Amino acid sequence: MSVEQDYPELREAVQKLCAKYPGEYWRALDRDMSYPKEFVDELTSSGWLAVLIPEDYGGAGLPLSAAAAILEEMQAAGCNGGACHAQMYTMGTLLRHGSEAQKQQYLPRIAAGELRLQAFGVTEPSSGTDTGALRTTARRDGEHFIINGQKIWTSRAEHSDLMILLARTTPLKEGMKKTQGLSVILVDMKTALGNGLTIRPIRTMMNHSSTEVFFDNLKVPAENLIGEEGNGFRYILTGMNAERILIAAECVGDAKWFINKATSYAKEREVFGRPIGQNQGIQFPIAKAYTNMRAAELMVKDALRRYDAGENPGEEANMAKMLAADASFEAANMCIQTHGGFGFAEDYDIERKFRETRLYQTAPISTNLILSYLSEHILGLPRSY
Ligand SMILES: Cc1cc2nc3c(=O)[nH]c(=O)nc-3n(C[C@H](O)[C@H](O)[C@H](O)COP(=O)(O)OP(=O)(O)OC[C@H]3O[C@@H](n4cnc5c(N)ncnc54)[C@H](O)[C@@H]3O)c2cc1C
Repeated sequence: MSVEQDYPELREAVQKLCAKYPGEYWRALDRDMSYPKEFVDELTSSGWLAVLIPEDYGGAGLPLSAAAAILEEMQAAGCNGGACHAQMYTMGTLLRHGSEAQKQQYLPRIAAGELRLQAFGVTEPSSGTDTGALRTTARRDGEHFIINGQKIWTSRAEHSDLMILLARTTPLKEGMKKTQGLSVILVDMKTALGNGLTIRPIRTMMNHSSTEVFFDNLKVPAENLIGEEGNGFRYILTGMNAERILIAAECVGDAKWFINKATSYAKEREVFGRPIGQNQGIQFPIAKAYTNMRAAELMVKDALRRYDAGENPGEEANMAKMLAADASFEAANMCIQTHGGFGFAEDYDIERKFRETRLYQTAPISTNLILSYLSEHILGLPRSY
């Protein structure tokens, strides 16, 4: 598999770092559902999580395609970027819509690894796909917002210093769109914890540091409002294409890991006195998974090219996310099948990666909603909901 790749030096450096965190490391964490602190600390101190932060604020000022290359390599090495990928795209909300004072206050410290911005509080128990229906409120009280409500599936909340929170600042009235009256507020989680903020972990099928977050009269300084009050939904939306493209790059990395693993095993494993990879019943699913991965990779590259050129490529970002998530899950399934019974054994890492990559059919946006976006906004079909 010799495919011409962009950022060859950057990729090689990430590969070297990832080689220090082999399957045993991830297996042990997966068993206890614990956070890959050493891995994230090393990525942070090496500057990889700050590549998108402009140089003026202490980052590397690289384009999204560099971040995509980093995340793809992590996944292709068998690591799990889900532990820290959010910082790359949540930071964009602060960068694009924050005031100069907010950027000066937070971005250099995020770039230096003194602060983690890993938590993104949008989904609620009664509103996932239907974001505008969220119920968490932020009521203005003098120089503060008073926050009440609940978020769910807030990944990494226990391992983050800051949270980008979407809350309702204007009650819904007749004639108002559901997506109006929402605002983005930066929550300093460390000072909030125990003072109106409670975090409860949720055990899930993979180790993703999932939590529920409860707000009970949490007081947050009004100066933590990002951008204009009431425009929060738009600010969150503008970050979503970057998020989708980066997750798609991770899925391409996952697919490469599964394809490599299956190819190696198919060459080595002998059954009936010959390698199983000699059977077309084993070869073809690998070749098909490879083809689908390459097609998804092309779409990711197209989305990245457009994004880096200053476009906001909703069509390509969504298609890249869907194709790549499908390619990685197909490759995962193929990899288990190629390994026979051993595919289910913890020691082979395949079942863990299988569980991890399954998430991307649902989060951060489910396949149905991508298809619905394409149907309505690209093909001009009637809105279905
Ligand atoms: C491990 C994990 C980590 C996550 N991390 C975060 C995070 O850090 N921050 C955050 O805010 N959120 C996070 N999420 C939430 C994630 O974005 C949502 O789960 C996702 O958007 C789907 O929302 P939902 O779970 O409420 O599903 P629902 O909205 O209840 O939808 C259920 C199903 O119905 C389908 N559906 C709904 N409406 C339609 C329609 N009109 N047409 C066709 N199908 C439809 C959906 O596609 C889905 O398959 C995470 C989720 C998981 C599982």
